[in-house]
Amino acid sequence: MDCSGCNKCKVAVCSIDTKCQLLDRSLMDQWGAVSFPIYQTATFAHPGLGESTGYDYTRMQNPTRKQLETIVANLENGKDAIAFSSGMAAIATVMELFEPGDHFIIDEDLYGGSIRLFNEISKKNGLEYTAISLSNEDPTPFIKENTKAIYLETPTNPMMNVTDIQKLSAITREKKLLLIVDNTFLSPYFQNPLDLGADIVIHSGTKFLGGHHDTIGGFVVVKDEEIDERLRFIYKTTGAGLSPFDSWLILRGIRTLAVRLERAQENALKLAQFLKNNKHVTKVIYPGLPEHPGYEIMKKQARGFGAMITFEVESEEFARKILNNVQLIYFAESLGGTETLITYPITQTHADVPKEVLEKNGISGRLLRLSVGIEGIEDLIKEFTRVFEA
Ligand SMILES: *Cc1c(COP(=O)(O)O)cnc(C)c1O
Repeated sequence: MDCSGCNKCKVAVCSIDTKCQLLDRSLMDQWGAVSFPIYQTATFAHPGLGESTGYDYTRMQNPTRKQLETIVANLENGKDAIAFSSGMAAIATVMELFEPGDHFIIDEDLYGGSIRLFNEISKKNGLEYTAISLSNEDPTPFIKENTKAIYLETPTNPMMNVTDIQKLSAITREKKLLLIVDNTFLSPYFQNPLDLGADIVIHSGTKFLGGHHDTIGGFVVVKDEEIDERLRFIYKTTGAGLSPFDSWLILRGIRTLAVRLERAQENALKLAQFLKNNKHVTKVIYPGLPEHPGYEIMKKQARGFGAMITFEVESEEFARKILNNVQLIYFAESLGGTETLITYPITQTHADVPKEVLEKNGISGRLLRLSVGIEGIEDLIKEFTRVFEA
């Protein structure tokens, strides 16, 4: 357990649950508002010539966003966190660290939007990449002279493949590559990649951190000052910062991160077991099931297994029947909120992924993804029982 405490809050805390509540008190106003204010302003007045409050213009800095960034940096044990207008804006900014001609290695199973970014934007900007299965392939033979980074998710979206971050970081450290981990699926509540040797952590704040399907945001968390400075420079120059109101929503979401995730995870395990025993379900992929190949690694590197389940049903027709019949849960893209969502990767999150990549990764018309919410488990099971028998 990390008891090093909080950068700016002047108290040493051990518990990640407490870190969700720790605000930077030095940013608080003279009224002592416990719900941190939304500083809805584009610009800030200077006290005098050559003087600054530390805030000049909201594209560069904003106190509400700063408060959020402080809390996210603490949750990930980072030096700094930068809040972006979306997860994709965060990833696009990280890619700006590279130069034309640079090469990077990615996991072949990734969020569809990330694959689209690498294919359609990064390539145009002169970057090249090699996609391999990092959960069961050694990247060493794929490292070239111009390789600069390894980029992955663990568990991956949607196949839930688990990579040993610490093991991988021994390679990236030796070869002087950046190790970039998209930690969206577990959130900092369950996993802290920087502690395991990663250099950069990315989050879609839209998901578990925001937690209510009501806003879009993203984060980059770093531990190295030089990388932080370069990212801050790109960020203020390109203007992809999170708005004050959206910063406030995610700040509020984080207050309940611990309790939401505990409940969602509890539901996920029960639902995974229920699905496993259903005759229409041909495969259940949840890393909290001991038969999952990543189970032992997860136990070592994470504090939990999360609330995402991928499962496969007997036919494409059956998958479509489920999607057409859900009532309590929503057939919707996204994840990480209080409501359970069911997603059809092949037409939604991974619609733009090349067909051969889908096939190689096992993403078929029989595959469904669940983001388990915090409803009563009896009702979720009743819903599935009804839908399966419809
Ligand atoms: C949603 C998601 C993203 C993109 O985030 P947005 O906030 O939608 O831009 C990136 N990575 C993963 C794993 C995601 O689930």
